[in-house]
This record gives sequence, structure tokens and C-alpha cells, in this order.
Amino acid sequence: MIQAFIAQKVLLVNPLGKILLLMENKGAHQWELPGGRMEEGDHPLETLAREIAEETGLVTDPQAAQIIHTDLWSFQRNEETHCVFGVFYAIKVLDVEVLLSEEHGQYLWHDPKDADPEEIKENVREVLKVYRRMSGIPKADDRIAGRQGYGLVQIFTGEGKGKTTAALGEIIRAYGAGKKAGVVYFDKGGSHYSERFSLDRLGISYVVTGRDRVDATTGRFDFSLTPKDHEEAQRGLRAAQDFFASECDVVLLDEINSCIALGLITMEEVLSLIKNKPEGVELILTGRHAPTALLDVAHLVSDVQMKKHYFYSGVKAREGLDY
Ligand code: ATP
Ligand code: MG
Repeated sequence: MIQAFIAQKVLLVNPLGKILLLMENKGAHQWELPGGRMEEGDHPLETLAREIAEETGLVTDPQAAQIIHTDLWSFQRNEETHCVFGVFYAIKVLDVEVLLSEEHGQYLWHDPKDADPEEIKENVREVLKVYRRMSGIPKADDRIAGRQGYGLVQIFTGEGKGKTTAALGEIIRAYGAGKKAGVVYFDKGGSHYSERFSLDRLGISYVVTGRDRVDATTGRFDFSLTPKDHEEAQRGLRAAQDFFASECDVVLLDEINSCIALGLITMEEVLSLIKNKPEGVELILTGRHAPTALLDVAHLVSDVQMKKHYFYSGVKAREGLDY
């Protein structure tokens, strides 16, 4: 005998853009989406709200559900064929605390920018592809395959202007090519760096370390070195490791060369970072006075020379151009 029913399934998207996956307790033990079958007399959105509440404990507004995909599948149970017409929705949720039912053993907030977990239902893999396409998120599997050729070390150093801007230019390019990028700012605290607002808008991750050296009232630059500066530089190194661990394709360590010159980080620490980075991560280091030992291990060194700088004609740093 053939049983036919409609299943309502949902991508719950949290404020960080991550999607809730549930590990089923029975069957193939795969990641699946919350949802379930419609009972007689149910309105589709009632089924949806009920299943979400039962399986996740999350509160949602089913009226805000958007249908993003449909699919047909079948399975055998008790010598019967069950045919399912699945309707897949996306709903935003504000909460991230999940209360599982007995049907599921674990949950995972999955970043659609990352590769899907191995043990995932084929139709969930499909619906994630649809979701990435409609949200403009590069396909994770393509991103990893497209990495080939990445993994070199680039240095922008020298006295002229253009080191940080060139490196950020590459980050924007890499982003445009669907790569995942991360930026660590060394010894560059403060909120007056305009490009960070652009990174925010693009969703490119960055970590800021260091004190704000510019005095808000006098505009004076504080050149002093304190224990806090050393601590902050170490935090920057740890942030770089975190980006390595999060499958970034390109990592920019802005002003790290200057930190070595200032004695906030040792050259050995940076050499060891390079040696231990994952093979496929392209690393960009900027800042004046890059030591020779670093230049030796780099694959690209751009020494930006100063032929002229408007600073010497009395032009002060300008928002949007110099910071
Ligand atoms: P940018 O961030 O503009 O690419 P940069 O990274 O090459 O500059 P840094 O040494 O990080 O240069 O200095 C940052 C700031 O100092 C910028 O405002 C920049 O315009 C300015 N600057 C760069 N080179 C010089 C120079 N030779 N003399 C004076 N100021 C400079
Ligand atoms: Mg710079």
C-alpha cells in the first residue's frame, strides 16, 4: 500500500545567518531540518509552527515564512511505501537556545558559508544549495575546490603610502571571487578607520587589536609602549590562528611588520605562524620595516616607495583616504 503525505520543513535562520540542523535519533542518523507531516485539517502554517515549537522550542512567526523549495521523495516503512511532498520554508528566528525533543539527539547552527556536514540528508543538501543561490552566498563546496593555488605569503612593506590599502584591495577582490577572508588589525585600536564600515557591510570578518593611539581632543599620536600593547599583539596572533581554524582562504595581518619592529611580537612568532598555517591559506602581512627573515620566506614582496606624500606639503590625514 502507498501512503502519501505533505511534509512542512523549515530553514530556521538565526541573527548570525546560521541555519538550524537537527541530528535524527532514528533511521540513518543524519542531519535534518525541523518540520513534520501535516495532519488532517491542519493549515500548512499551523503544522509549521507546531513542529518548530515541538522540535526546537523556538518561537517563530509562521506568517513570515517564505517558501523556498519543494521536493518529492519516498521511503519504505513496515512494508509500505510512503510518498512525501515536501515544502521547504525559511523563517528568521531571534533566539539561538534550542530545546530538543526526543526525536533528535543534537543540534547544530550551520554557517551556510561553510561546507555542509558529511552526514546530512540529500534533500537538505539540495535546499541549502537553493538557499545559498537565493541569498547570494557562494557555494561552500565550490569555494573549497576553488582554493587551489592559494597558500602563499605576501608582504607589503616600505615607507610609501599604499600598503594597507593594497592589502584591503586584495581582500575585497578575494571576497568578490567567493573566498572567505579575515583581517586582523595589529596595534590599530579606535573606531576612526573608515574601511571597517565597508567590511561590516560586506560581512567580512575582522578583529581589531591595540589601543587607540590618537587622542580624540588633541589629535596627537601616542607613541608609548605599554604592557597592554604586548598583550594586545598576542591577542592579534591568537585571532590569526582562529581565522586559520575557520577555513579562511585569505588572512590579512595589517601592521604586523611594524609590531615586530616595535618589539611587540617577535619575528620567531611570526615565522612560526607562517610555518604552522594551513597549507591553502593565503597570508598577507603589511607594515613598514619587514625583517629580512620574513622577506626570505615570502612569495611576494612589494616595497612601496615614497616619491611624494602630501603630508609633507602640510595636508593632514583625510577621512576616507588615509583612514
Ligand atoms: P594606507 O593605509 O593609506 O595604505 P600605508 O598602510 O601604506 O597607508 P602606514 O604606514 O600604515 O601606510 O600609514 C598609515 C597612514 O600614514 C596613512 O594615513 C598614510 O597616508 C600615511 N602615510 C603613509 N606613508 C606615509 C609617509 N611616507 N609619510 C607620511 N604619512 C604617510
Ligand atoms: Mg598601513
